[in-house]
Amino acid sequence: MALALGACLACMAAIAAPSVPVTVHDVRLWAGPDGTRLVLDLSGPVQYSVSTLRGPERVIVDIPNARLAKSPRELPGGQGYVRKMRLGTPPASGALRLIVDLSKAATPHSFAVAPAGSLGDRLVVDLDNSATTTVASTPTTAAPTPIAVKSAPAIDGRDIVIAVDAGHGGVDPGSIGKRGTYEKNLTLAIARRLKERIDREVGMRAILTRDGDYFVEHRERIARARRKGADMFISIHADAVVDRTVTGSSVYTLSVRGASDESARWLAHRENASDLMGGVKLDDKDSVLASVLLDLSQGASMTASIDAASKVLQELDSVSVVRRRTVQNAGFLVLKAPDIPSMLVETAFISNPGEEQKLSSPKHQLQLAEAIHSGVRSYFLGNPPPGTRFAQLRERRDGGAVIAQREPAVSIGRELTNSAVGTATSSLSD
Ligand SMILES: [Zn+2]
Repeated sequence: MALALGACLACMAAIAAPSVPVTVHDVRLWAGPDGTRLVLDLSGPVQYSVSTLRGPERVIVDIPNARLAKSPRELPGGQGYVRKMRLGTPPASGALRLIVDLSKAATPHSFAVAPAGSLGDRLVVDLDNSATTTVASTPTTAAPTPIAVKSAPAIDGRDIVIAVDAGHGGVDPGSIGKRGTYEKNLTLAIARRLKERIDREVGMRAILTRDGDYFVEHRERIARARRKGADMFISIHADAVVDRTVTGSSVYTLSVRGASDESARWLAHRENASDLMGGVKLDDKDSVLASVLLDLSQGASMTASIDAASKVLQELDSVSVVRRRTVQNAGFLVLKAPDIPSMLVETAFISNPGEEQKLSSPKHQLQLAEAIHSGVRSYFLGNPPPGTRFAQLRERRDGGAVIAQREPAVSIGRELTNSAVGTATSSLSD
C-alpha cells in the first residue's frame, strides 16, 4: 500500500514523541448494533493520531515511540465496521502504525482513557456512521485526512458506581437445581461478568458486594454498597419454584406496602430467609427504623428503582423469556437501602432443568450481564447523577437533546472529543 504521508507526517510532527516507550499490550474489539469500538490497552499515556483513508476505506492509528506486545496475527478483526487489522509501515522510526481495514465507510471518534480500577491507560476508537456527510465532503484522495488536531476537552466527572450483589454465598447455597447447580455459584458468575461489562463502560464502574463463596448478610451487602458510594444496587438471583415448568426472568423493586402478588411475597420470604440461614438474627428495631427511612426517601429513590428496573426488564426481554412484563415488587431485605435505587433480578428459574442448564452456560451468563448493563446504562444516560461524567456528557449535548433510550454501548465516548490528537492525561482521569 502506497500511503501519501504528507498530511499525516504533519500531524505526527505536531506531537513530540514521548520519551518513555509505550507498549500496546492488547487490542480489543467489539461491535454493537450501531457502532464498533476498538480499545488499545497501553502501558502508559500516549500521544496519537487517528486518520482516515479511502479506496479502500481504512482508519490509521499512529502512536509514536510504541510497540505492540503481541503478534500482529493475534489482532482481532471481522466484527462490525472492521474487516481486518494489521500493522503498517510506521511514519517514523520507533512508531507503531495500526491499520484498520473497514468493511464499510465509518467515522472514527477517538479518545484516551486514564487508568481506572484494574484497567490501565487505554486508547479508544469508536467507529460509526455518525458523520458520513462530513466525511463525504472531505477530499477523497489517497492522502490520510487528520480529523482534527486539538486537545480533548476536560471531562473530569466521577464514575457512576454500581453495586453488583451476587445473591447468597457460603453456607447459604440459595436454590439448588435438579442437576445440582447452586444458585450462589450462578449469581457470582453472572455478577462478575456484569462487573466486567460495567467496568468497560467509560464513566461507569462496578463493585461486588461479595467476590467469592462466602456468606454476607443482607445489611452488610447494603453497607458495602454505601461505603463505596454506590449510585445503584443490583442484586442477582436465580428463582426456584416447586413447579419445574415455570420459566423466565423477573425484575423486582422494594415495596413496603405489600407485594405485587402472592408469588412475589413468597419469593421475598425465601430470599430474606438467607440471613437466618447464615446465622443472623433479624432485628425488629432495625426494620422499624428502616421503614421510617423508607417512607421519607421513598419518593425519589423508588421512582428511580422502578425506572431503572423497567429498562433492565426491557433488555432482558431480548435474551430470555420475561416472566412478567412489568416490574414486580416485594419486601426484599437486600433492597432496603432507601437512598440507593435498588433492584433484584431473578435471572431465570433454576428449578426448570432447561433454564438451569442455560444459566450455567458462559454465553448465556454474558448475555444476561450485557442486558442488565444495557438497561442500567440506558437509565443513567437519561438520569445521570450530578457530578458524573454521564452528567457532563449530557450537558454537552447540543441543546440538551434527549438521549435515545437505546444508544449503542459504543457511543458514550463520542461526545468526549472528536480530536484525532490527544493525550491520555487530558481527559477522563479520575
Ligand atoms: Zn436467590
